[in-house]
Amino acid sequence: MKVGIILGDQLSYSLPTLAALDPNHDRLVMAELHAEATYVKHHKQKIALIFSAMRHFARDLEQAGWQVDYYHYGEHDFSDFASLIAGRYRDAEEIVVTHCGEYRLQQTIEQHWEPACGILVTCLDDRRFLCSPGFFQQWASGKKQLRMEFFYREMRRHTGLLMEGDEPVGGQWNYDSNNRQPYKGKTPLPPELRFKRDDIDEQVLVLVAEQFADHIGTLDRFQWGTTSAQAQQALDHFIKHRLPHFGDYQDAMVTGEDTLFHSLLSPYINLGLLDPMTVCQAAEQAYFSGEAPLNAVEGFIRQIIGWREYVRGIYWLLMPDYAKENRLGDDRPLPAYYWTGETKMHCMAECFRNTIDHAYAHHIQRLMVTGNFALLLGVLPEAICQWYLEVYADAFDWVELPNTLGMVMHADGGYLGSKPYAASGSYINRMSDYCKHCHYNVKTASEADSCPFNSLYWHFIHRHRQQFAGNHRMKMIYRNLERMDSAKVEAMLQRAETLLADPDAL
Ligand code: FAD
Ligand code: SF4
Repeated sequence: MKVGIILGDQLSYSLPTLAALDPNHDRLVMAELHAEATYVKHHKQKIALIFSAMRHFARDLEQAGWQVDYYHYGEHDFSDFASLIAGRYRDAEEIVVTHCGEYRLQQTIEQHWEPACGILVTCLDDRRFLCSPGFFQQWASGKKQLRMEFFYREMRRHTGLLMEGDEPVGGQWNYDSNNRQPYKGKTPLPPELRFKRDDIDEQVLVLVAEQFADHIGTLDRFQWGTTSAQAQQALDHFIKHRLPHFGDYQDAMVTGEDTLFHSLLSPYINLGLLDPMTVCQAAEQAYFSGEAPLNAVEGFIRQIIGWREYVRGIYWLLMPDYAKENRLGDDRPLPAYYWTGETKMHCMAECFRNTIDHAYAHHIQRLMVTGNFALLLGVLPEAICQWYLEVYADAFDWVELPNTLGMVMHADGGYLGSKPYAASGSYINRMSDYCKHCHYNVKTASEADSCPFNSLYWHFIHRHRQQFAGNHRMKMIYRNLERMDSAKVEAMLQRAETLLADPDAL
């Protein structure tokens, strides 16, 4: 008998482990493990989503004829897979697993499972992605800096999505310049999608409330689908109600509107409940049938076959050294409001509220508000990376780390992105209504009530002159700084120093 191990983010019928085994002879093992649930203090909703989706997937596999041994949290003493295999499956002829999404666990599989259990361990490539680590390595080889846009074009050719022969549909590869509108309320917001909860969901929600009470977040507003059928429903809902305006308002932020036209599909894709190519084909079909415009469909597909595959490629190319990068020498602790949400900065408070209530924030909230602030403050990359890994339902190391360490913190020296996404309050003011409701004044930089983003932005630019003054995409910014009145610069830097001395007071 062979034993197939299915991890919490491997909930796909197309999983290589399933293809390699025979339901008539082999067994599958799934386990809710203390070590995995607590190696960082994940948001309650993230744990509930993963446990419930695992239990539903195990049930579906059993209905499809597989023999599944499922280990419920708190009902067994195995803290990790090595002890579980050694304790229960010593007589197995082989252990089969699919390559996992996290360097930490993959190392354990490769280095410890076989010696600890004395059984042959076969680790299969994860073919649920559109670009293999080998393909990415080949593409990246010899390049000093990588550019997502060029990788993305390769992926368009490779997948054939939105292609007419060798040319992009519509004649352009990228329609991002059409995709930067603030939301002013003219377009009606999409209806909410609600899922009916079953016994499995209810049991898991009780378990998580009891066992993980001190983890961040609330379970009251748990809204995630937990089966592949519900994930498909979420995809259908997105294509019909959200995709047509996804592009227009992709960068917009509005007080009290937590999702706008975003898809909310990342947890399902990352857990394996939705296949990335199926998702992209559904979006492409919406364009061909006239249900969604090209700027929306291209923009959406780019996030998945471009950014998602790109960050995964970088992760497997550069780990484990990547996780230790800190090229800007940042070392500040994360302010306490990242956990409590209590700050007078309205933009930050809104993003934290969304995070705590839903284990979700959309990309611009993560990148240009909470991430931007951590960059301007100079937070230790490890601390901010851990925060993003803990608080979002879609967070897995392979995708969270490059986004945070590379895209947000620029800690990799610009390998992932050519310039830091640092911005003052005026960007947030342009893309949202947040500043209208804020204690601080977005129009000034050096007064006692000035928007903290403003002075911190110029402090960031000033203190990293050596790293960035030569960057051709930042030349204009340094020229502006030089042209500014020196007394004004001095006053802004003074104000920033005051804020940096006690960022928790903001
Ligand atoms: P949409 O805006 O609807 O986008 C569609 C899909 O594109 C997403 O579902 C996702 O699968 C993919 N996508 C979009 N941008 C990215 C990106 N930069 N990297 C990878 N995939 C992308 N995404 C995660 O899936 N897990 C993470 O742990 C994660 N951590 C992040 C941390 C930071 C600091 C930042 C700036 C971004 C992070 N992202 C992460 C990327 C992105 O913010 C989320 O994928 C997105 O917000 C999920 O919401 P959505 O499904 O509504 O996305
Ligand atoms: Fe955020 Fe500054 Fe605007 Fe307040 S004024 S919402 S702190 S950008």
